[in-house]
Formats: sequence, structure tokens, C-alpha cells
Amino acid sequence: MPARTRQTRPGDCERHSAAGGGAVSGTLPPDEPIATVKCVVWDLDNTLWKGTLLEGDDVAVDEQVHETIVGLDARGILQAVASKNDHGPAWQRLEVLGIAEYFVLAKIGWGPKSASVREIADELKFAHHTIAFVDDQPAERAEVAFHLPQVRCYPAESAPRLLTLPEFTPATVTVDSRRRREMYQANARRQAEQESFGGPSEEFLRSLDLAMEISRATDDDLSRMEELTLRTSQMNATGVHYSDADLRALLDDARHEVLAVTMSDRFGSHGAVGVALVETGPAVWHLKLLATSCRVVSFGAGATVLNWLVNEAATAGAHLVADFRPTARNRVMEVAYRFAGFNDELCACLAELPPPDGGQTQRLHITPTPRPAPCTMRLTTVPLATT
Ligand SMILES: [Zn+2]
Repeated sequence: MPARTRQTRPGDCERHSAAGGGAVSGTLPPDEPIATVKCVVWDLDNTLWKGTLLEGDDVAVDEQVHETIVGLDARGILQAVASKNDHGPAWQRLEVLGIAEYFVLAKIGWGPKSASVREIADELKFAHHTIAFVDDQPAERAEVAFHLPQVRCYPAESAPRLLTLPEFTPATVTVDSRRRREMYQANARRQAEQESFGGPSEEFLRSLDLAMEISRATDDDLSRMEELTLRTSQMNATGVHYSDADLRALLDDARHEVLAVTMSDRFGSHGAVGVALVETGPAVWHLKLLATSCRVVSFGAGATVLNWLVNEAATAGAHLVADFRPTARNRVMEVAYRFAGFNDELCACLAELPPPDGGQTQRLHITPTPRPAPCTMRLTTVPLATT
């Protein structure tokens, strides 16, 4: 799920000169807005630190590189290591230097750098054009550029300047992007536990101590909500992007509910994982937007939100109608609606809604009946039915 910033650069010249005199290699698709780097992969010897560990140097990280590492982390840009060294001593040195925690993955060994960078991209599920590679050796940069032409390669001397380059400057930095590394690391621990857990999936979910909160979105929630609807297109049931401004304009509208969904478990917070927009009327509630993060699909987050909405509409005595526009990527959302009991019946209540935009938006309908609370998570909600 590559996320692009909407900041654009006027042309290729500027795009390439941004890194300083053609120092950067790697090609971007033509006429694409410049993509923000999502992960920086660092070489160690004479790049991240001064000196060569295996030659017995007392390696040290200079202040500007240290500031770069901390600064990238604060911007939500993940960092990893690709180094030709023995793994044990190199990782131990990162720990002694007090910076090991900043790296979500470390490929330290004797294989080609391109293989390490590729594995890092695969494990993070990041497209190659969102990866940056920093190495002091021209031959290593050339090897990565040859096999992974979309990876952007930077020489070690540009490391202190990375924070000044546009591709390392996300258009927005939200609470969740600042915590991205922490969330990634919690997720890695969670997956390791899941792999070692032999019980059935529901039992595993209960062991996570999952909690979901559905609340009315506040002004502060909305920028991360927008980031979410951009990032989770396969889970956006309407296939329509609601901007920050669209949603903000509806915050004070008495008939519209803009809902923020957050989740946590015993490993930590998942941050904002969903957004919903519902127009409530006396006879029919209209679900105009439901998007949930693909990070929480396996926890049944979408189904939990839908079941709660069905229950609230049942309490209010209203029918519930959801907009659904099939796209190549949101099939999983259609399954969630059907599983929750939505269908194509032509109920009279549909006539109360304005016609859908264009011909592609379907209206899925349900005559709600009360639903039990979920058995795999604690749910804290705002009551909609009594307002
Ligand atoms: Zn109806």
C-alpha cells in the first residue's frame, strides 16, 4: 500500500538536483509526484559510524548522523541496516552506541547488499521506490542500483543532509507517523507470538487483550483520519476519498456522525485504524464511508464496526444503508458487508436517499436486529441511537 505525499516537484531536473549534484541514483516513474521515502537502509562501516568494526576501530557515530537518525524516526520514516559484518558484534555495537532501537530490521552478513535491501522492502511490504539506501562504497551503491533500479541510493557524505531533502520531508507528520516505528516493532512481537501460538484463532485474539474505541472524531483526529483513508484503499468500501476538509465540514453537522476508530492490545496502541461517516435520519441511517486499516483486518476490525452500527440502528429503529463501490482492491470489504447481513433487497427506505453519484455506487441494505457484543475484544463506543 504505497502512500504518496501530494507534494509535487516541477520537473526531473529539480527532482534529481534535490539530492545535490546528481549524487542520488535511482529512477522514479516519469510524471509521478516525488515519493516520500518510507525506509532508509543504512550501511554501517564509514557510513552510519566512522571506522571499520572488523579492523578493530573504536567506531563512533558523529553528531550530525545521530541527529539524522533521530530526526527521520520522528518523521515516521523507518530505518534498517544492511551491512557486511558479523551479525553479533555489529548489532551489539549498535546497542552499546544506544541507537539499536531505531532500526526495525538489520541484515548483517556477507550476501549482496541488493539482496538485503530487497528482503527489507519485502518484509516491510514497501515498494522499492519508497526505499533509500546509504552507503560509502560506490560499488555497493551501483550493485543495489543495478538490481533494484527504483531504490534511491545516497553516498555516506549526504547522510548529515538527509533531513533537508524533500523526499525525506513528509507532507504531514501525525501522531501515528511519529509512532510508526514503535507500532512496527509491537507488530513484529505480536506476529512472533502468533506464530508460536498453536491454539485456534479466536482464542489467540482473546489472548491479545484487544480493545477498540469508537468515538466522535475531533479536529485533531481528522488529519490522521485522512492519512488512513489514503493508505487503506483496499479497505475503503466507498472507493471515494473524503478529504480532511470534507470530513471537517461535517463535524458540526447535526445529521452526520464522523467516527474515529482506534485500537490497542497488550503490546501497545495500533493508533487510528478506522473512520466512518454516517448520516442519521429517523427512518434510515446512511453509511457513506467506512475505511479500516489493513493492519487490523485479521482482528476483524471492519466486522466489529459494522456489527456495532447494525446494533445502534436497531436500537434507533432505523434501517441501515451502506454505499459500496466495488474496486479492484476492496473485495474484502464486500465480504465483510455480506457477512454482516447486508444485501441487495429493494426496500422502500432507499427512496428516501439521494441517488448515488455516478452508476458505480451500489446501495447495500439491512433491516437491523440487535447484535451481541464482540467476544474477541473490549468495545468502548459513543451511543448514536440516543442522540
Ligand atoms: Zn429499508
